[in-house]
Amino acid sequence: MAQALRAGRLVMLPTETVYGLAADGADAHAVAAIYAAKGRPSFNPLIAHVADLAAAERVAVLDDRARTLAAQFWPGPLTLVAPIRDAGAVCDLARAGLDTVAIRVPSHPAARAVLAAFGGAVVAPSANRSGRPSPTTWADAMEETGFAIAASLDGGACAIGLESTVLGLIDQPRLLRPGAVTRPQIEALIGPLAEAGDDARRSPGRLARHYSPNAPVRLEAEGPREGEAFLGFGPDVPATPWNLSPAGDAAEAAANLFSYLRAADRTEPSAIAVAPIPEAGLGEAINDRLRRAAGFVG
Ligand code: AMP
Ligand code: MG
Repeated sequence: MAQALRAGRLVMLPTETVYGLAADGADAHAVAAIYAAKGRPSFNPLIAHVADLAAAERVAVLDDRARTLAAQFWPGPLTLVAPIRDAGAVCDLARAGLDTVAIRVPSHPAARAVLAAFGGAVVAPSANRSGRPSPTTWADAMEETGFAIAASLDGGACAIGLESTVLGLIDQPRLLRPGAVTRPQIEALIGPLAEAGDDARRSPGRLARHYSPNAPVRLEAEGPREGEAFLGFGPDVPATPWNLSPAGDAAEAAANLFSYLRAADRTEPSAIAVAPIPEAGLGEAINDRLRRAAGFVG
């Protein structure tokens, strides 16, 4: 894997959040190949993945807030946006020309082993074509990107199943994308977060239609209408193959969300109806992804 990365090839890696399509962040040709494989708008900057805090400090300028958060949540699903220190390690194209970089240390053992062997920063957006749901199993990732990669690692189903929390630390701390590390967990360590604002270029992952299956998505549904597939939540919903969490557990629902959206989509329903999910805890991140899947977020 590390050798393929050094050779400028793309590889597919499991992380605890979702499967990533990975390349050497320093290699603009390899990064361009990621954009081409994903069909991703090139203004969307990528997350740099590194083996540990020391590697992160070589790439980005981390302040006290960043170090406090890193000590608590790395390795893990928290991405920090900070000023770039080594612009060669994560090239301009990977940063979409910004003088900041989004960086994290993933916890999946397979990803950590590759990053440790590689040594540098690996950019790894979710291994799906742009606008589609992120893959959370090896099979789903292969369905998206099998043609474009030199190698892949099957690390099982992703334990978290939602993309990382993205926190901007440029001026005031801002939650740019909710995820498994929640707003209250962050605020407990560094104080209140500012409003993210609606400038899509500040964090282009905030684009409206993102994470979408082919079928339209209908939210807050009590049950399926004729021809619809239904994603339930909790014990009191109509039975279908896709109850995100019969026990009503948000973490379990997050882990199942994208694979169930994909499975439901494969049945070519008239729409995918989704039961209401409470906002508490991981619910904020799940509902963020669902609103994007439905095309509702501006
Ligand atoms: P993905 O690689 O699909 O997980 O998406 C990466 C996320 O990180 C997107 O929401 C990007 O907009 C965000 N991101 C990456 N780099 C930056 C940056 N320098 N400033 C703000 N957001 C960023
Ligand atoms: Mg993505």
